Amino acid sequence: MTIHELLATAFTRHAARPAITTTSGDRLDYAALAARVDATARWLAEQGVTAGERLVVRLAKGQAFVDIYLAALLRGIVFVPVNDGCTAAELEHYVADADPRLVLTDDDIDVPAHVERLQLDPHGDEHLADAGAPLPATTPHADDLAVLLYTSGTTGKPKGAMLTQDNLGANVRALATAWEWVPDDVLVHALPLFHVHGLFVALTGALAAGAHAVMLPRFAADAVLDTIEAYDATMFMAVPTMHHRLVTSGRARAATSTLRLVTSGSAPLRPETAAAAQAFFGCPLVERYGMTEVGIAASQPLHGEQRLGTVGVALPSVRLRVVDPSTAVACPAGDTGEVQIAGPSVFPGYWRRTEQTAATFTDDGWLRSGDLGVLADDGVLTIRGRSKELIISAGFNVYPREVEECLADHPAVREVAVVGLPDDDRGEVVAAVLVWDGPESLVEDDLVAHCRAHLAAYKCPWVWRTVESLPRNAMGKVQKHTLAQQLADSRRD
Ligand code: AMP
Repeated sequence: MTIHELLATAFTRHAARPAITTTSGDRLDYAALAARVDATARWLAEQGVTAGERLVVRLAKGQAFVDIYLAALLRGIVFVPVNDGCTAAELEHYVADADPRLVLTDDDIDVPAHVERLQLDPHGDEHLADAGAPLPATTPHADDLAVLLYTSGTTGKPKGAMLTQDNLGANVRALATAWEWVPDDVLVHALPLFHVHGLFVALTGALAAGAHAVMLPRFAADAVLDTIEAYDATMFMAVPTMHHRLVTSGRARAATSTLRLVTSGSAPLRPETAAAAQAFFGCPLVERYGMTEVGIAASQPLHGEQRLGTVGVALPSVRLRVVDPSTAVACPAGDTGEVQIAGPSVFPGYWRRTEQTAATFTDDGWLRSGDLGVLADDGVLTIRGRSKELIISAGFNVYPREVEECLADHPAVREVAVVGLPDDDRGEVVAAVLVWDGPESLVEDDLVAHCRAHLAAYKCPWVWRTVESLPRNAMGKVQKHTLAQQLADSRRD
């Protein structure tokens, strides 16, 4: 089933049920949401945007974003959301690459002169056409492009991941099964909308299930907890940074018994934070693993043992394998290799980038995730980090995540990132960057002893730096390429 079919069905089947509480606090039932989406579709038609054309949207989180997204999906217009905090130079790249019919922004940011731009109030109604003749019915096909989602671009310029109507439909259905979405669910939505997690997993998942999404303009610990309580929420989805902030917010715990599922993903979750969050929320905390190019690939089970530190098993319809990249042979259970993914939610490729698309797939058609992982005998997956971040020091493989977890266990380490630095003698050396809560003079003495007690010598960092905070992107992922570059530059000086 395409995402178009799933949403159109939800709109009619659940007409009188609550669909969205907007960031402005207005409650819309599915019939009211459908009317707004219809008016938005007519407005887009008036602006001359037709099926198959790209529509770049750089709007703050608000109902206008939601209306335009849904109208585009239902009309077969290719929706291209970009971070509303992106710079003019970044926007120029997205626009030059996506080649859109129209760019919608909420400020007067520059776009290349030949491209049409309209400015909209992200909380207003300017994008709703007056009542008029209904548009002729359209039915996007399974293989039609639905969304171009730019990857965070940790290596090179961001590439547009093409997601089809079928890709989105398949993932939403798999999630509905794994997480047992029902129309009675109430989701507190505190994620950005320009990323796969907030847009597909949370918002689209809720709407396709006929559930109620309560939208918050941004994450703030108090607002999340107050909203969970006020709406008797059943679900909450977050990235690890948010969970950490919630459990250290000083609030006793989420004072509700209605929560049935809290999820974490998009970046590694420390087992300690997972355990603390589970106790805080008083319901299962399910860690899941996914990426822009696939949606969600694996999730811990909703019932039974979550097995801390793992990301659970493949979702229904998704296939996972772990392959030794040097031999292209599947690894035995327990060995680390590259995680590869197949199934109906896997994207067909990057927009107008044939070579990078070819490099992303194996000869037998599996997606190379670029993540290192281990599959256990029973199919439970553990992520070890990005393969590009693997450090090879004097011929030994060092997985930064293992060193980070060891350092994070030290009581004075608040945050840590481990990267590899070029080194004439060893090829690479292990470097640790820390947000440190103790006297500067103790960093090396204390931590070297701590690492030596827990890690083989070749894994122990050679280079130590303390910083005020780690550079992170909007999803809380540490920008390791920036850190490694800064460290390498400062070592050369
Ligand atoms: P994005 O396309 O921005 O969602 O980033 C996808 C990447 O985030 C994956 O390839 C992983 O490296 C990372 N990621 C997502 N979920 C997890 C998780 N549960 N644990 C560790 N890394 C994760």
